[in-house]
Order: sequence, then structure tokens, then C-alpha cells
Amino acid sequence: MSAPAAAAIEGTDALRALSLELDAAFATLDPEGRLRLLAERVPGRTVFTTSLGIEDQMLTHLVFRAKLPIEVVTLDTGRLFPETYALWQRTEEQYGRRIKAKYPQADALEALIDDQGINGFYFAPEMRKACCGVRKVEPLGRALAGASGWVTGLRRDQSPNREKLDFVEFDEARGMVKANPLFDWTREEIRVFTAENGVPVNELHDKGFLSIGCAPCTRAIRPGEVERAGRWWWEEETLRECGLHMDASGRSVRARDGKPA
Ligand code: SF4
Repeated sequence: MSAPAAAAIEGTDALRALSLELDAAFATLDPEGRLRLLAERVPGRTVFTTSLGIEDQMLTHLVFRAKLPIEVVTLDTGRLFPETYALWQRTEEQYGRRIKAKYPQADALEALIDDQGINGFYFAPEMRKACCGVRKVEPLGRALAGASGWVTGLRRDQSPNREKLDFVEFDEARGMVKANPLFDWTREEIRVFTAENGVPVNELHDKGFLSIGCAPCTRAIRPGEVERAGRWWWEEETLRECGLHMDASGRSVRARDGKPA
């Protein structure tokens, strides 16, 4: 085995061990303490990918307020709600910090639209996944390239797909520490925190849009529906993940937990 390959394996093993250690440590910390610990312990770059949802806004607030060395990055698919772009602007103004953006690659996007049209995602799951692939998954790869840590706003109670999340896991597919500092927080706890701390949130939340993604693929939910029921609502429930949160074999969180994918 070459020296660089051996060093890569050694680094991977170290990050895997660190993930276990951080997972145990997170249980006794509040969200800011968890983010501070990540900033201290994860070597190299740590990236927080925000979709500007309410839980992501809480994390952005904590990162910016504490001036933590964690990059805040969003994936601008080009199909976001006007309210989301307005929130992005308001957030930068309030904290005086930039939220970096990753965009789809122009050639790939043009080829996608040539192939399936501007709203082809409504017609077949494969077409929807192709759109998410070009507009989200590929840009995410570039956002995380070279980083050792990835922070997300995933929460256990967002949907049945996410019930078995960990605080911190080792992302085998990407070879990095993946941390979910709000995994044990409820939406109501986050709503109270953001209100009490003046954190800017998307005005669509008050109109029934609890989980907000691209405009054509998000609707308001009805009473009694789970939080993410308004995402890709026309698809069968087990298919409704965008591909950002996959395990090493390319399966969604739901499939990893032994449920149909
Ligand atoms: Fe395309 Fe909809 Fe996926 Fe956005 S959520 S990338 S518009 S399929």
C-alpha cells in the first residue's frame, strides 16, 4: 500500500473513532456546546449546510453569534421561494456575515432541462431524482469537498425517515464526521428559542410550510400531517428524500434502518 493511501485510511479511522467519541459527548451538551466541541475537535474544515429552515436558522445564529470557525453554506437550486431568498438577505444583514452558496453546474443543468423540461420532476421519481441530483447532490459534494466535518439541522422528529438518527455519525460515503446538533430538539423548542433570541425565520413557516425546500416541490401541510409531508407530496412516501443524506451504499436514512427504500 502506498504511503498516501495508508495515511488516508489512518485519517478515516481517526475520524470514525472521533465520531463515536463526539456522539457520546453530545448527550451532555447544549447545541452551542456541541458546535463548540465540533469546532475544537474536528480537524480541518467543518461545513454547516443550511436550507434556511427554522432549525438551520437556529444553528446559523449559534455559529455566527459565537464566531465559530464553521463555514455556513447553502445550496441555491435556483428554484427556492422568494421568501427564502429574502430570509437569506435578512440573515446576512442581521449578523454581518456571508452565507456562502453553491450552484448547479451550468452544463449539467442545461442538459437536464433539455432532457426533461423545466418541471419534469413531477412526471416520474427518476426525473425528480435527476433534478435533485443536478441541483442539490452534486453541489453538496463540492460544498463538502476537502472538509472533515459536516453539520446538519436534521432532527429526529422531522419524519419517520429520521427517527433513528444519531447525534454524530461517521458518514462512510463521504468519509467525514456528520453531526446533527439539534437531533433531540423538538420543533416547538426550536420555535421558542428562535422567538426568544430574535433569530430571523422564514415567514412561510406561519403559513403551514414547516419544511421548506424548492418552491415547486413544497406545499403547506394539513393538520395531523408530519412535518415533511409537504415535500414531494405527489410521490410515494418512502421515496421522499432528496439524496443529500445517504449511507455508503447510496441508500437513504430510511433504507439504512431496514425500511423499504
Ligand atoms: Fe428539483 Fe424539486 Fe429537487 Fe428542487 S426539490 S432540486 S426543484 S426536484
